[in-house]
Amino acid sequence: GAEAGAGVRANAGGPRYRDAHAPVDERVADLLRRMTLDEKIGQMTQIALVKLQGDCGETGGGELNERCMAAVLRDRAVGSVLSGGGSGPPVNTPRDWARMVGAVQRYAVEHSRLGVPVLYGVDAVHGHNNVLGATVLPHQIGLAATWDPELVRACAETTARAVAATGADWAFAPVSDLARDRRWGRYYETFGEDPLLAGTLAAAAVRGTENAGSTDTAGGAKNVAATVKHFAGYSEPSNGHDRVPADVSPRYLQDTLLAPYRAAVEAGAKTVMVNSSALNGVPVTASRHLLTTVLREQWGFTGVTVSDWQDVRALWTTYKVAADYPHAAALAVNAGVDMAMEPYEAGEFADALRTAVRAGLVPGRRIDEAAGRVLRLKFTLGLFERPYVDAERANTEVLGAGRELARRAAGASQVLLRNDKGVLPFGPSVKKIVVTGPHADDLAAQAGGWTVGWQGLPDGVRIPGTTVLEGIRQAAPKGTRVVHAPAPADAVAQGRDADATVVVVGERPGAEGGADSPRPELPADQRELVRSLKETGRPVVVVVLAGRPLVLGDADGTEGLLMSWLPGGEGGHAVADVLFGAAGPSGRLPVSWPRRTGNEPLYYQQLPGTNAGAESGHDVAYDFGDGLSYTAYRVESLALDAPSVPAGADVGMTVRVHDTGPRDGEMIIPVYVSRPVGDVLSPPRRLVAFTKVRLKAGEARSVRLTVPSKVLAVTPGDIDGAGPPRVEPGPYVFRAGARTAALEITQGAGEGARPRGKSVR
Ligand code: BGC
Repeated sequence: GAEAGAGVRANAGGPRYRDAHAPVDERVADLLRRMTLDEKIGQMTQIALVKLQGDCGETGGGELNERCMAAVLRDRAVGSVLSGGGSGPPVNTPRDWARMVGAVQRYAVEHSRLGVPVLYGVDAVHGHNNVLGATVLPHQIGLAATWDPELVRACAETTARAVAATGADWAFAPVSDLARDRRWGRYYETFGEDPLLAGTLAAAAVRGTENAGSTDTAGGAKNVAATVKHFAGYSEPSNGHDRVPADVSPRYLQDTLLAPYRAAVEAGAKTVMVNSSALNGVPVTASRHLLTTVLREQWGFTGVTVSDWQDVRALWTTYKVAADYPHAAALAVNAGVDMAMEPYEAGEFADALRTAVRAGLVPGRRIDEAAGRVLRLKFTLGLFERPYVDAERANTEVLGAGRELARRAAGASQVLLRNDKGVLPFGPSVKKIVVTGPHADDLAAQAGGWTVGWQGLPDGVRIPGTTVLEGIRQAAPKGTRVVHAPAPADAVAQGRDADATVVVVGERPGAEGGADSPRPELPADQRELVRSLKETGRPVVVVVLAGRPLVLGDADGTEGLLMSWLPGGEGGHAVADVLFGAAGPSGRLPVSWPRRTGNEPLYYQQLPGTNAGAESGHDVAYDFGDGLSYTAYRVESLALDAPSVPAGADVGMTVRVHDTGPRDGEMIIPVYVSRPVGDVLSPPRRLVAFTKVRLKAGEARSVRLTVPSKVLAVTPGDIDGAGPPRVEPGPYVFRAGARTAALEITQGAGEGARPRGKSVR
């Protein structure tokens, strides 16, 4: 093995696939020609790092073990390794990570017969969150509250740089699923409930991740691949529990759920991860329709499709749509899965797929296609030319990097929902502030799941960051006393003569099914604490650190309410900046906040016939798009470029906005559309464009917005024939702030002959 590998590594006159100047397609074809079936299947396999450590087992961890590496990387020629979830090298500073990843990579390059580097994948979903010392950014749900694609892009770029610095090549982010059911434990990993907002931000995240290291820079920066996950419909588990099958109508799937994945794919995402669960009776891992017809044929995706955790095997063991492993492997691969994430296997997937190929269940060209896509990704990322990073530089490159950005992002994600009697920002008359609540001094709660140490770190070890209490202490002006009262009774006693009490509440960090909650509400003891503080009659500001809106019950109605989400390490500063007015809050809810428990799923795009209010289940305490600021804004006018456009044309408009308040600030302007009449139900408002404007106090400005025609398209026709989306002619009403403008969409070119309301196939 090793000798043959050494032979082909010579460059001059060497094999074509080694030639950095050869076109990638030729390199792929050349390498495929040299590979055995087993080696190709190896490229289609991803295993967990732990299988290379200790006793080659599932939980062992520890040092890399030669014997395990030989079995996996040499004998099986496995093409990809992951450190999923909260796992990683045992002492996980950036340098330790880089050394570990580098050793794995070196082994693959030096001991696999053809010297093929591995793709190393990580769940870097809010910063390089598995690495101790890496900056912990806000989770996606908080970033969604910023409504700021550029900020999201920058966060993804910072994350990717950290990933690259530790030698990894692949970030399993962003999530393009929607947040529509608060019971679901992965709600916080999404960019909110709206397809346009989520898709725009996911696309920005893809760009940030994949453009982080430019190949042109001298020395060749390392590139990182993004992953659009979990394609498709993962966020619709029928009973609110993670990975439960979903049943959704073709119309809802097409018009609502698919849009954000599509936006991220069209932004150039190099990989897509498959929904673990089943949609309309078919496990998505086995769905040729979604993985090939929609993703590749309709959307033009050319990258790598990876299954989620153990999901190829699950077709046989869990879903029972295959009688044995070879049939499961055949189903998945024929549907369009290019790589199986089978973290703990010793080669069972590979054996199963080989059996399937030999039995004629999978055509050889499909294997070439899948393995070829994986190899193309490796060539595109520059892995053959630059498989290693300098581990000794990892600490310098990662520690502290992006902290200023993290603070800015956490700041922009703050959503102020109540500010009665002008309690905020705290003015000079506030001389005593009591800080209490279980999350007041808790970095783990601020960071949330998918963060190193979220289930506890050794004594004396902490993730970088500032708690809310620390942030308040640092920001409080001279002469203001900050009293930390962790015990509820003490807090109430102290609160009686305080000028304000800040009570930091929320939920414990969690991940996946463990974070599911049948009752997404503020826990009873925390509600009780807030209630007792209200009874002091002194001003109370509730700060919520949680990944979802929690029903507040009698804890609602305090003078101040600030939703801080899971703001990450810099969250303490971000909260304090808002409390003391160093920054004005500009975030807006990317989700609807229910008044009572049991109203799930809940989202603002309710269809006609669903009345607002408790009876219909659509009863919000705070609405999608809500959020206060310290200044005042007004949309003064909304002018469409033309009163009518043909179907298929984009809709341009000018919106004039005015900061009429006392301060500079940032204003988010959502534009909604409604249809006075149409063939199929459409919600009374649907987000079709948005922008964010920075205004000086008193300033007025006009901004241009464009609604691309495809955003207005919906699936027409009766329930038996969900055809492709299209823009229906007829009246439309656009709204920004309190201003509206009517538009008539006329029959577009080429639309004339088509009978209205009939689906097109
Ligand atoms: C999750 C994915 C994650 C993968 C790897 C799965 O359980 O669903 O989101 O990327 O694990 O850790």
